Amino acid sequence: MYAYPVALSILWAKASNMLALYDMGQLSLALTELEDCLKFASQYDLEKERGYTWFLELASHNYRWSGDVDKALHIIRRSIDIDRDHARTPFSWILSDLLADIGQEAEALSIAHEAVQATEEWKSSRPFSRVLHVRAQYTLALRAFANGDFPQAQELLFQVRLFYQQHSRARNIWFIKLAITLRALGFLECASNRHEEGIMARNELIELRKRLRLLFTSLDDLVEVGLNRERNFQAWKHLLSKHTLTCGHQDDAEYNTTNSRLH
Ligand SMILES: [Zn+2]
Repeated sequence: MYAYPVALSILWAKASNMLALYDMGQLSLALTELEDCLKFASQYDLEKERGYTWFLELASHNYRWSGDVDKALHIIRRSIDIDRDHARTPFSWILSDLLADIGQEAEALSIAHEAVQATEEWKSSRPFSRVLHVRAQYTLALRAFANGDFPQAQELLFQVRLFYQQHSRARNIWFIKLAITLRALGFLECASNRHEEGIMARNELIELRKRLRLLFTSLDDLVEVGLNRERNFQAWKHLLSKHTLTCGHQDDAEYNTTNSRLH
């Protein structure tokens, strides 16, 4: 029988704390907690334990958010190798995002396709599992967008948006993902010369943020952090440099709830 080590529970608790710090935009504190988690895992010899790759995925994400793409890549590759050794489905969309950050779009696109296929098994699962497939779909949508396959990107973003629209109330942190998806959709529609649809997506995001600001101000603060974080990813910057918008419909200022245009 598998004996679940207490130290792994402690690691998960520490990792949850780390994630919360990142979500609040406390990057320096989060990075300190991350380094502490890595030391703790080594001290208690947790690297071979089931569930450890979950921590590595979080760590990879967090290094990416801190701008250290090299470390993020190193960790996610290690995590994927461990998962494959144990015949588990790796979270390879993270690798796709990181490869896009360093400009390796062709490989990033191929891995995003694999990530969607690999997570098909969760397509009909409950939302907390299905989100793994949705997350891979979002990554593939960005890769398709970057590579000029606008119809595929649109179809995927519609599916991702629908999922978060239906389930964010049950898990409020998903409102951040909904906001990020609406922004990507707005940019995609305008890049496709579908400006009315682009404006509609932007307006949906603005309305969402207005509602959150009124009902759940601290959550809208997290949405702001999430939108800023995504905006600073190199992959997003590469994408926008390939598909420069001149219409002005998706100007970043439109999304700032402290901006007077929203009041
Ligand atoms: Zn436009």
